[in-house]
Order: sequence, then C-alpha cells, then structure tokens
Amino acid sequence: ASPAADASALCAALFDAYALLLGSDELLLGTLERIRAGNWAPGALRQTIEEHCGRFAAMDDPYLRERGADLRSLGQRILVRLVGGRRTPAYPPGTLLVGERIDVMDLAEVPEGCLAGIVCAQGSTLSHVAILAHARGIPAVMGVGDYPLHRLDGRTLMLDGYLGRVYVDPEAEALRELERIQGAERAMAAELSHWRQGPASTADGLPVALRVNLAAPAEVDLALGAGAEGVGLYRTEHPFMLHDRFPSEDEQVQLYRHVLAAFAPRSVTIRTLDAGGDKALPYLPVREDNPFLGWRGIRMTLDHPEVFVAQIRAMLRASQGLGNLRVLLPMVSGLAELERALDLLDRVYDQFVRDEGPTPRPPIGAMIEVPSAVYQAEAIARRVDFLSVGTNDLTQYLLAVDRTNPRVAPLLEALHPAVIRALRDIADAAQAAGKPVGCCGELAGEPGAALLLLGLGFDELSMSVTALPRIRRAVHRFTGERVQGLAQGALRCDRAQAVHDILEEALAESGLGALGAVAP
Ligand code: PEP
Ligand code: MG
Repeated sequence: ASPAADASALCAALFDAYALLLGSDELLLGTLERIRAGNWAPGALRQTIEEHCGRFAAMDDPYLRERGADLRSLGQRILVRLVGGRRTPAYPPGTLLVGERIDVMDLAEVPEGCLAGIVCAQGSTLSHVAILAHARGIPAVMGVGDYPLHRLDGRTLMLDGYLGRVYVDPEAEALRELERIQGAERAMAAELSHWRQGPASTADGLPVALRVNLAAPAEVDLALGAGAEGVGLYRTEHPFMLHDRFPSEDEQVQLYRHVLAAFAPRSVTIRTLDAGGDKALPYLPVREDNPFLGWRGIRMTLDHPEVFVAQIRAMLRASQGLGNLRVLLPMVSGLAELERALDLLDRVYDQFVRDEGPTPRPPIGAMIEVPSAVYQAEAIARRVDFLSVGTNDLTQYLLAVDRTNPRVAPLLEALHPAVIRALRDIADAAQAAGKPVGCCGELAGEPGAALLLLGLGFDELSMSVTALPRIRRAVHRFTGERVQGLAQGALRCDRAQAVHDILEEALAESGLGALGAVAP
C-alpha cells in the first residue's frame, strides 16, 4: 500500500472510533441528565465532556492521555455547531496548519495535496495527527510550547521536520539556500534514476549485495523500485510503536508476510523488537536516567520471552512457502544473552516444525553495535549465521556521544579512527569464523564510507532506499583492489578529517565529487 493509502485506512479507523465515542451512552446520558437538571444544551455537553477528559488526563498511560485530547476536540466541534457553526477556511496549496491543538479532523479538512506542514503547540509524536502526517511525508513539528502562535498568521515559515525546528520569516539567503538544496536534490534524483536496476558490482565485476533498511511496509514499493537486493534490516519496532498494545501474533504475521512476499526470493532480514533508548513503546512506559544504557533491544525481549516467542512464531508463519526469512538480534553485548536468545529460538523453531511440518530454519544473525561485542565478534560469529554491524549505535557507544543530543552532535564522528579499527576487527573476526558480515547503519549509505566498508571486507551494505542508486553508482566505479587500497589508507590515519580527505579525493578522482563523502 502507498503511504497515502495507509494513512486513509488509519483515518477511517479513527473516524469509526470517534463515531463510537460520540454515540456512547455515557456521553449522551450524562448530557441529557444535565439538561434535565436545568442546564442549557451547550453547557451540559461541555461539562460532560470535561468530566470524561478529566478521567483520561488522570491516567498513567501516555497513549490514553492523548485520547482525552481527541475527546475534547470532538466536543469543541459539536459545541461550535450548537452555537451557530463556523465557516471552513480556504486551504491553498502549500498550507501550513498552525495551532494550539491540531487534530485528525483538521487534517482531513485540508484538500489532498495542499498540506505542506504542521506546527502544533501541544501534542507529541504519539498524537495521531503526527503519526498520520509522518505516513504522508508531511513535516510536523509538535509540542513547540508557549510561543504565541497567533503571531505566525500570514508569516513565511520554513520547517525542518527532522530536527523539529521552525524558522519564522527566514532571511532571503536562507530561503535561497533551501531552494538550492531542493533543486540539487531534484537534479541528482533525475540523474541517479539510471542506477536503479541490476545487480550491483565493482568495476571489475565483484558482486556486492546492496539491500535496504525498512521501517514500514509502506516503503516496500519504493525499495523494489530502487532495485534493492532484499531487505538488510526491517526495524520491527515501528509497527509496535504505532499500536496501542503489543500487536498480536496474527497481526505480526500479516505485516511480515507483506514484506517477505514482496521481496521473495530475495532475503528479508527481520530484526527482533529493538524498543527502548529513544524508541519507547506507548503502552510500556519505562522511566530510566540513561535509556540508551538501559532496557533496550534484546535485554527487554529476554525479560519478556512471551513477546520474543510470539514475534519469532509470527516470522516463521509469515515465511512459510517463501523461505527467504533471516532473523537479526539487536544490542547483543555478550555470549550469555546471545545463547539465551538462540536457545529460545531453537525451542520455538522445534515446536513450530512439530506443529506445522518441515520448515527451513532461517539464518540467524547478531548485530554488532556494542563495544563489548566487537571484542567478542569472533565468538559471536561462530554461534550465528551472519553478523550485521549497527554503526549508529556502535559510534555512539565507542565515542560516548549520545546520538540524540544536538549539543554533542559534532562529536558523533562515524569515521573516527577508533570506529574504523573496530570495523576492521569485526570484518576480520567474521572472516576467521567463515561468516558473512554486513553493515546496516547510516554509514553504509554514504558513498565514500560504503567503499571503505567494502575495502575492509564487508559483504553486504544495507541502507535507506534513497541512498541505494548513488551507492550502486559509486561501487561500479571502483575495483576490488582500489577499495582495499582505500581501506589500508584509512587505517593509517589518526584523525577522522584525514579519512574524509582520502575518501573525498578518491570520489573526486572518479568523477563523483559532487556527491561528497560522509558529512563531517
Ligand atoms: C544501528 O544502530 O546502526 C542500527 C542500524 O540500528 P538502529 O539505528 O535502529 O539503532
Ligand atoms: Mg542500533
């Protein structure tokens, strides 16, 4: 399904839920009772709604607290109708919705294709409006707080949905810069459209597996269109975050089957739930002082084996008749937890075969993204079928730099010599154990770094769908010998800047200067 189709299905489900809420006896009877007691209709309705909202607001669960906000906004709409209605404003193309509260119905009022962004004083990424905007690729900056939003009416705004920033009346120079970036992106996309097909290989014909990272089933079509050779990382926590409870085994089967069937016979690597850190589940609120050093990934699922077992069973069921499933375990920090996870997996698999008949055993991989796992990479590799390096976390843990903290962002340097040596050690460990090794962190989608990874001995690169064509093009310009030479050069550097220089020079020499290497 396209993101828009997903979004409208979600919209329809929400409107059904609102209709049920509005028709509920509690709301109607409570209002009628107040009218009979002598209150006027708008006042009676307002008080009944407030009473209900108060109950939601007192709940511990942040998801349910958000539903209280939905109810209040529904109530306000009815009140507006009761006291004389209001005109629906005109929404020209490029509309930005700015408000104290913006709800799903505000979104639905704007004609398709006219909405360019959302700025909301309240709400969070948990609000449905933010979820829907995200599914439609519309930037939404939520929770801007006390800013007097009425002052924004009629002003020019520039939104950065990634960083959650709003620029008011940006200077002409900033606007020109934005237009320049947009233009350059369009031109590059047009040029790269020739690099969307065929197996990827180096200039001397060595095959390279280029796969995609997926978070939502809606990205499947895009990934197929970009010629991905399968999925190197399917982050299952995203569908888990969009639910209001743990998705059932049956619901997970549907989700996984969609992706597995779309890519078959190409392999699809499904990662077990990697919640925690900056990916909290709305229905499992956890308060920790250091969430990135806390209850994350495999630590959480090993404490909740029922979640792990249901997920593995769902993957096995979804892959029946396809045989292209690979399972990936996140945040492995030592052998004890790896062995516990493998033991659970074996038990689920054996039971599954007893119940359902012969089923191919999926290859199992471990992510290497915690420094302790780097030092045990060979022992880990001997116990699994493949390794996959998560450079996003590996960099933050090796350099002690929180990947979500803007203040220390310049220190988050994935081409730091320490990271490069760790990558070399992991590749060597995988080779010693005779197992393939891939990289599924953002680094794999940067042209210079992708060449470096290949030179270090990585077999597979998995990246966001937009990076795929430019990486295919870059790989095609370099021989196996040349990328090995680049890796040797990078290993001799004792500063990240020197590594950037080597990679940028190599790209420029092969006519790819405009792409740049990894941004410092
Ligand atoms: C990583 O850490 O590099 C990775 C791929 O996983 P995530 O970004 O989901 O933590
Ligand atoms: Mg990670």
